Amino acid sequence: MLLQDLSDCRPFMMSLQTPTPLLKQARQALLRNEELAISAVEQLPMELFPALLRGAFKGRHNRMVKAMVAAWPFPCLPAGTLMKTSNLETFQAVLEGVDMLLARNFLPRCLRNPLETLSLTGYFVSESDLNYFPSCHCLWQLKHLATRGVELWALNALPLQLLLETVSHTLQSLDLQGCMMEDSQLTVLIPVLSRCTQLTKINLYDNDFSVPILKDLLLHTANWSKMNWEQYPAPLECYNDFGCIDTERFLHLCPELLDALRAQRQPKGIVFATDICLQCGVRSVYDLRPRLCPCWQ
Ligand SMILES: [Zn+2]
Repeated sequence: MLLQDLSDCRPFMMSLQTPTPLLKQARQALLRNEELAISAVEQLPMELFPALLRGAFKGRHNRMVKAMVAAWPFPCLPAGTLMKTSNLETFQAVLEGVDMLLARNFLPRCLRNPLETLSLTGYFVSESDLNYFPSCHCLWQLKHLATRGVELWALNALPLQLLLETVSHTLQSLDLQGCMMEDSQLTVLIPVLSRCTQLTKINLYDNDFSVPILKDLLLHTANWSKMNWEQYPAPLECYNDFGCIDTERFLHLCPELLDALRAQRQPKGIVFATDICLQCGVRSVYDLRPRLCPCWQ
């Protein structure tokens, strides 16, 4: 992460939290005149940066955010803290600013380091957003990627494939729960997933995959020697025409998938889970043994 050394960041964090009245006035004036702030960003006193960046975030002045990040004078940038109040466009502005900063390559230690975690949980992501990420240099050594709840079913899987290709040698955890992906998308991702050899955790719950495609994925995971914890959705064939779980098929198909995987490698922790039951709010799971939701007990 960009926040590498908290002790170096302490003076910065304090100034972020407690802007003086004078800094407050200067910040407000600059936020009212975005063009002026952008054109003067290289001349701004250091003390102004934290409060002004926070204001630019809040007001979604994305051009100002990008310019300020690109000119960031401190050895750390509290991107994680700020991103909690941001939207995806602002997030992209930060990434673009970080890329520019990396290109200038004049700061220590920590801004030269790329992002380790990208979490887009709860965002609406468009195809152009996805297209952008693979080209972003600061994401090229990502260790943790989470797009939980980001609906990908209607989107082209190629940008995600490209991003995974870029980070396949570093990625340790992948959380695609609730992305509502379908067979066609997983088919595109299987070859690159098979090359993510550093993966220790994967979560594919709440995606719509059929038995043949899930099996195909599992048969391509022989290289996942570091995998500790894998979560897969119960295949589509486990549901009847009304979307309710067919327990007989569930109890038959999950062991079949597990057997297919065991022909490749020995899983350490693995679960197949249905969607959350609409009656009781609990998933039926198969983790070496079946545990059906309370409705079936
Ligand atoms: Zn239930």
